[in-house]
Amino acid sequence: MTNSITIALSKGRILKETLPLLKDAGIEPVDDIEKSRKLVFPTTHPDVRLLIIRATDVPTYVQYGGADMGVTGKDVLMEHGGEGLYEPLDLNIARCRLMTAGPVGQVSPKGRLRVATKFVNLARQYYASQGRQADIIKLYGAMELAPILNLADEIVDIVDTGNTLRANGLEPRELIDHISTRLVVNRASMKMKHQQLHPVIEQMGAAVARRC
Ligand code: AMP
Repeated sequence: MTNSITIALSKGRILKETLPLLKDAGIEPVDDIEKSRKLVFPTTHPDVRLLIIRATDVPTYVQYGGADMGVTGKDVLMEHGGEGLYEPLDLNIARCRLMTAGPVGQVSPKGRLRVATKFVNLARQYYASQGRQADIIKLYGAMELAPILNLADEIVDIVDTGNTLRANGLEPRELIDHISTRLVVNRASMKMKHQQLHPVIEQMGAAVARRC
């Protein structure tokens, strides 16, 4: 398997949208990923195998060469920092926005803010870029609870339809960035396995273009 290509995919919402794109690019897992508990899947492409892992682990696997390529959200990449990674392709799927949000009808308080988020690096950079002092509180989920329980003044989170915010008495405030899913490649693999990786990147690019 020395010449094989390993692609790390984010499980969950992104996986559902990635699999049809990979199929268009000639890469199909031989098992039903959604029904299996396996983490590594051979594909119909003789050189390609897939890893199914958490989105937040994809940049780490690719950075350290556990996988040659990976598919994950721009939010996750920005939080990771992108060290050791090329980002050759915007897959244009799982589009959403990274936003600040707070209780409906309230404005962001003046002075030092308490902000709950799982994107601690991104949040720190954002508030610094706005010249605002913020204490960042790390949470792993259910950020929407934090302002309601007075743990934080506002949150930084992913917003798609805004339904989750509304259902919890919150509303979006500031747009930090538009987010979509990206293909990333390990820098060393890009050099050492260029002949194998290049056609796969090209085929995925063509599959993305056919959808636009
Ligand atoms: P919504 O209620 O449609 O605004 O969706 C917001 C919730 O879904 C948040 O808790 C997000 O974590 C999650 N979400 C929405 N879109 C994405 C995406 N493209 N990638 C990851 N998580 C998402």
